[in-house]
Amino acid sequence: MNLEMSADREASLKVPCPIDLCGAEIGEVCVQLGTGQPLKHLPAHDTRLRAAGVRHAPLDSRELRGNPKRRSEARHAD
Ligand SMILES: [Zn+2]
Repeated sequence: MNLEMSADREASLKVPCPIDLCGAEIGEVCVQLGTGQPLKHLPAHDTRLRAAGVRHAPLDSRELRGNPKRRSEARHAD
């Protein structure tokens, strides 16, 4: 995790995640919808980052949707 991502995550922790399937409360990190594991490629879900006022949210569709097929296709990027 780089510094920018840490700062974005810190900002995201100030608001709950709007994604029902994630359900992260204030102070909790977002989880991958498919596995329930903490997000690795994003500081938080995109909608949560926007709710927290983070304007430059990185887009990584692998974790936005938790689609296992797309995750395995993109594994080389890990
Ligand atoms: Zn979330």
